[in-house]
Amino acid sequence: MIAYFPTAYPDELLYSKLARYYTKSGYMAYAYAAEELYVSKIVRPDMEFVNAYTSDALRMITRDRPMEDVVMKHTMFPYYGSFLPLERKQRAFQALVSMQGNYHNLLPIPTRKSSSDRCLRYCPMCADQDRQEHGETYWHRTHQMIGLAACPVHGCYLMDSGIVISGKAPPMLKSAEEVIPATDVVTMACEIEQRLVAYMREVFQANVDMQSDVAVGQFLHSRMANTKYRSIRGEQRNIKLFHSDFVDFYRELSGNWFTELWQIQKVLAGDRINFCEVCMLAMFLGVPVAELVNMNLPEKSQQQLFDEEVYRLHGKGLKYPEIAQRLNASYNVVKAVGERRYGTYHKLPKVPLKSGAKPQNWAQIDNDTLPLVKDAIRQLQGDGTTSPRRVTVFAVEKMLHLSSKKISLYLPQCLAEIRRHEESQEQYWAREVVWAANHLRDAGSPLVWRRIRELTNMRPENYRACLPYVANYADEEMVAQLSCIR
Ligand SMILES: [Zn+2]
Repeated sequence: MIAYFPTAYPDELLYSKLARYYTKSGYMAYAYAAEELYVSKIVRPDMEFVNAYTSDALRMITRDRPMEDVVMKHTMFPYYGSFLPLERKQRAFQALVSMQGNYHNLLPIPTRKSSSDRCLRYCPMCADQDRQEHGETYWHRTHQMIGLAACPVHGCYLMDSGIVISGKAPPMLKSAEEVIPATDVVTMACEIEQRLVAYMREVFQANVDMQSDVAVGQFLHSRMANTKYRSIRGEQRNIKLFHSDFVDFYRELSGNWFTELWQIQKVLAGDRINFCEVCMLAMFLGVPVAELVNMNLPEKSQQQLFDEEVYRLHGKGLKYPEIAQRLNASYNVVKAVGERRYGTYHKLPKVPLKSGAKPQNWAQIDNDTLPLVKDAIRQLQGDGTTSPRRVTVFAVEKMLHLSSKKISLYLPQCLAEIRRHEESQEQYWAREVVWAANHLRDAGSPLVWRRIRELTNMRPENYRACLPYVANYADEEMVAQLSCIR
């Protein structure tokens, strides 16, 4: 009968909690504890995952939370499972929850041969902090992530405890408190390493998405859209440039094994799933953690968006050279697209790109974004104290961090709102001049050309071009004054 059972600390391995239980319960020998805890008393306690527990032990383990949460928050499942294909991920999770040993086949856990003898690791500063806060330290999950050499919280290098994770040593429960010495010397990791480990920790501690079936390789590939690593139409990958920039970005990372072009290609193709490598690619591409842990594919590919924009502009009467210039693309590509020389998929009824792409409710997004767009327009127009800026679709997209052309392609209400406030260059200059004139008047400065020019950086010919419009923004007296200063 288990009487006392400790409560888990944040990010504590289940193994660590059982080890704390063992040391504090005063068993005569480990075998007695094993008998109470494990269905098989000769089993090696799994340090990263779970074992088959006795009903008594299981009752204590799930006293505060269901087994699902124990697996998610106190085992290494998020590390090995997060980016697995959906079905395999669900099966591995269920195997862990029901404590069946077959999860080893479902999760990409390195074999002993490839990883030699891995040890439980710890951060000296975390250990110190734990001892101050809790009177003891414990085995942290995060520190056991393969590919992580530094503590995501403190930025110092982790230490090997000598407790082998998958060795041949006899079964035992070793608590961190008995093993980890007090250390006063730590070595700090370099900046890029600290950034990466912090990113990995955030991904690791997020809730694993158990529903999405977006393949991580495809997701990462989609995030290369509109970067220099994809051609303007998106159909070609400049993978060599990507590779050299990527290697350069991580060149100071200690013990980095992920440096080969073929490795990157395998991840993008979905043939290789490794948590650390996924995080390295995602961080390099600037993918926010929230988007990596809840992966969505764009409804339309970069290629489709590009082609549609060509058709749209052509439909408005623009010639191919103009379109090419506007889209910053080559004339040949634009012409080939315009003449439908790249196949005919656009004529087919629209089908989802793949089953994993969640359909986006654009009408809802349009509604939700409208207030933000109105606000952005107000900000661009200026509040009288700051200099106004010209309202354009591009400026609003940039302000709201929306990808280029999102508004014109998907958000008709937002687009209409911007169009209502859009100004010609001359109108915008007029508004800027009036703003400057008001500014001078409020400051008690004389309304002279030199001061207007200082505030607006405007050329005389631009000033003359905008004069017909100043009446839209200023009273008669100011219009009269402005008309005679230049
Ligand atoms: Zn630490």
